[in-house]
Amino acid sequence: MSILVVGSVAFDALQTPFGKVDRCIGGSATYFSVAASFFTDVDLVAVVGEDFTDEDASVFNGRRINIEGLERVQGARTFFWSGEYGYDLNVAKTRDTQLNVFADFKPRISEKQKNPDVLFLANIDPVLQYEVLQQAGRPRLIALDTMNYWISSKHDDLERVFRAVDLVIINEAEVRQFTNEANLVKACRQILDLGPSTLVVKRGEYGVLMITKTAIFAAPAYPLENVFDPTGAGDTFAGGFLGYLASRSEIHDKELRRAIIFGSVLASFTVEKFSLDRLREISINEIHERYQDFRALTHFEDFEK
Ligand code: AMP
Repeated sequence: MSILVVGSVAFDALQTPFGKVDRCIGGSATYFSVAASFFTDVDLVAVVGEDFTDEDASVFNGRRINIEGLERVQGARTFFWSGEYGYDLNVAKTRDTQLNVFADFKPRISEKQKNPDVLFLANIDPVLQYEVLQQAGRPRLIALDTMNYWISSKHDDLERVFRAVDLVIINEAEVRQFTNEANLVKACRQILDLGPSTLVVKRGEYGVLMITKTAIFAAPAYPLENVFDPTGAGDTFAGGFLGYLASRSEIHDKELRRAIIFGSVLASFTVEKFSLDRLREISINEIHERYQDFRALTHFEDFEK
């Protein structure tokens, strides 16, 4: 099983209450690919500038990630995002977004990349997400992520993509922002009414809610003592979630629930260090161990009447 992902590969400047970095690797597709590659083969489609070195690209080396679709544009700069967090690490404040190479990017899906098992439209301009959708053939599952930046600047383009996907992965605040509805469950139903069969709502340190037309599943976040930098937690979650699903022969409720936990496990590692530093050092065994910790965390017995 394979995943095709299109999204941002970026340089980030980050400030959290625990430290600061002026330039590190980031991007929605970067976190996603590294996380998903623990479970399945990943084909990456993105664009970087000439400032993106082979050393920077080494984040993808030695993993099940094909970067033939990572275009490098001469004379242009890589996408840049600068973000800041206060003590409430659930809220990222964007200080600066420089689209750079993404301003003129025309994603091209090669014949080899068409008809993947899973297509993930990671957070980028919804116009680009739609262009990819039109070229991708017939994936078994199409999922999408987005953020406040695109909800406020390209709401209608985003709605067009929502109508064409199976699964939406989105932050709690963004569900409310997109629908203008304060009640989360009602807001989720509005998005499901557009067409997707499943909505996965990321709630930061409060965990994840998965809503379908007939069921709701909730998982907590792993209670960590050392949360250092929440950047990329959402994309990493999506990578663990869809990576696990792509590795299974069937997608049904039990597998979706396991996938939610694998996504949460991967995200819990990402936030322990800046950038992808923690994600780059973990092994599949550590992932499996933390999955078991999650089971213990949420297990409770039925009661006797
Ligand atoms: P998250 O998982 O939501 O914390 O995503 C963090 C990543 O999203 C950062 O590494 C940024 O480079 C990337 N990012 C921030 N803003 C945008 C945007 N407008 N479009 C695409 N990627 C973005």
